[in-house]
Amino acid sequence: MTPPKCTICKTQNTAFPVQVLLPSYNLKLCQKHFLEWMEKRVAETIAKYHMFTKNDKILVAVSGGKDSLGLWFLLTQLGYEADGLYIDLGIPEYSAESKSYASKLAERIGRTLHIVDMATELAPIPEMKQWSRKPACSLCGTIKRYYMNRIAREKGYTVLATGHNLDDEVAVLWNNVMHWNMDYLSKQYPVLPAEGPFLKKVKPLCRISEKESALYTIFHKIPYIKPECPYSTHASSLENKRILQQLEEEKPGTKITFYTGFLKNLAPLLHKNEKTDSSLAFCKICGEPTTTEICSICQLKQKMGKL
Ligand SMILES: [Zn+2]
Ligand SMILES: [Zn+2]
Repeated sequence: MTPPKCTICKTQNTAFPVQVLLPSYNLKLCQKHFLEWMEKRVAETIAKYHMFTKNDKILVAVSGGKDSLGLWFLLTQLGYEADGLYIDLGIPEYSAESKSYASKLAERIGRTLHIVDMATELAPIPEMKQWSRKPACSLCGTIKRYYMNRIAREKGYTVLATGHNLDDEVAVLWNNVMHWNMDYLSKQYPVLPAEGPFLKKVKPLCRISEKESALYTIFHKIPYIKPECPYSTHASSLENKRILQQLEEEKPGTKITFYTGFLKNLAPLLHKNEKTDSSLAFCKICGEPTTTEICSICQLKQKMGKL
């Protein structure tokens, strides 16, 4: 069987074999044209949702996984000023490996990587579990949100970017629709505007599938951490992803249609009814935004005798 030709360059030779089939877009692309297609698509997403411009100083939350590393690389390819933030959670083996990938990429693209070390800030995650009633995974989420916002603001960045991809967003959307979590639905959008001390948050890969994101990172020979975090408790999210993948295989384009349809049809209605959060206050100790008198990170520090 002769391999299919690239939709764009029509080549079929061995130098540029067709590597990527994108049935949702009716495209078959060689490696070179896949990389171009993906960068163009992300650039369009950034423009469409008014994420940022070349004047912004962007901080990318880098975990060492394929999505965040690929995003960081891609943004610099597009000419954006983007630095990285890595939060070292002190998880044995996992953290050291993922941090080394983040550092390697920083060196390759010549950008700054800020590193926050949980072992000195609070304690390594495995140790911190005893101080909090929260499961490690949600504790980790709290820590990441806190330090991302704080470091970005302190260092003068204007936008925070995360590597959430289409599959992540669709799995969350699916779950929110299944349970009619109206509150979460009204906040699910590729851009969260800056609000007081909260920086603007964006998800430039929201229209890029997990597979596309992985191929981009692999084709650019960027090493990344493959296993899931050992503390990950996203079992229901993985289950949703499996169901959605089945639908996608039966009918290519299901995920992107479901997601972009939500952004176009339902999200604007939800935003119209949205009230601004009046319960927002500032932590008496660190000054970060919180809904309680003392933020949850400072509460943890108090319990641990670190304050
Ligand atoms: Zn081609
Ligand atoms: Zn605080």
